[in-house]
Amino acid sequence: MQVSAIIVAGGLGTRAGPGPPKQLRRLLGRPVVAWSLDALRAHPAIESVVLVTPPGDAAAFEGLGAARVVEGGDTRTASVKAGLVALQDTATTHVLIHDAARPGLTATIINALVDALAEHDAAAPAISVVDALKRRDGEAVSTVPRGGLYRVQTPQAFDYGLILKALSEAPETLVDDLEAVERLGTPVHFVPGLERLIKLTYPEDFALAEHLLAPLFPCPRIGTGFDVHAFGPGDHVTLCGVRIPHGQGLVGHSDADAAWHALTDAILGALGLGDIGDHFPPSDPQWKGAPSSLFLARAVELAGERGYSPSNCDITLICETPKIKPHRQAMREKTAERLGCALEAVSVKATTAEGLGFTGRGEGIAAQAVAVLSPRSMND
Ligand code: MG
Repeated sequence: MQVSAIIVAGGLGTRAGPGPPKQLRRLLGRPVVAWSLDALRAHPAIESVVLVTPPGDAAAFEGLGAARVVEGGDTRTASVKAGLVALQDTATTHVLIHDAARPGLTATIINALVDALAEHDAAAPAISVVDALKRRDGEAVSTVPRGGLYRVQTPQAFDYGLILKALSEAPETLVDDLEAVERLGTPVHFVPGLERLIKLTYPEDFALAEHLLAPLFPCPRIGTGFDVHAFGPGDHVTLCGVRIPHGQGLVGHSDADAAWHALTDAILGALGLGDIGDHFPPSDPQWKGAPSSLFLARAVELAGERGYSPSNCDITLICETPKIKPHRQAMREKTAERLGCALEAVSVKATTAEGLGFTGRGEGIAAQAVAVLSPRSMND
């Protein structure tokens, strides 16, 4: 069984109000279509994802991470067919067809559908109707029995050959893809639907969807770091990448930049990835005399690989000498550049220890740092 997915983003969404197409509007900072795309791409059972765009609009949807982007047709059915054709040269045996306007897709729903496909040729998430149903006919209102009635969502899951055949024989006015299969008399299996799979239709649906999706959104991560280096022979110290002339140097295997070591540890801490010594062992000769910018850059890279980027940091240096204040702005600038964030998001502070302890006795410098990493989509 090889399962692929088609995301249909072909509709113009005119009921959702003015502005960009609703599939590209932002929901909690992330384009609507990216929610479904990321859920499907991240799922191990989904081989590849085809994104079907409005006709003539494929360029606007590039770069979101779909394996293929194809332009759809004038109707939803024509768009689905374009997606199915794009899978013809693959080994796809089953397909999930999903509306981009339903961003609340989760691995639970995908699991249930993939499991259902092992035994059924057609499956979809469905929720039984619980509200009273009324039909208005002029002034008259009558009750519609709701027994056996369901609201059916997407993704809808099919045997690939079956849906290809069903759609080729169906008119282009279908409500959904399941309708084509119903016409062939093929049994359909329902899996439990989710209210979170709401279809964005009207302007007010966006606020409701944000409320429903907020729990799915990755949280910011916070980490702290602390480092100490002792004074030794030398004529300068390096702090936050800034060379500061001084009567002594700092002793260390690398350039002994205690501030950036603390910051690197804060980032690694936010990621739960151990500490600077795990990644750059002092026993490894390749780090001898290394600029600490390398360590910081690697920590930022590790964050990026996990979908996070630094959104702010706060560094405190504890020493009697040298005076930090004259160099503070340069330290902030170097750090902001290295983190890829705005200058105002980088704080560098300094304090003395009032003559107490090892820093008070002028034996060395201590540094502490806090870093906040945000999901990249929040920083966009
Ligand atoms: Mg250190």
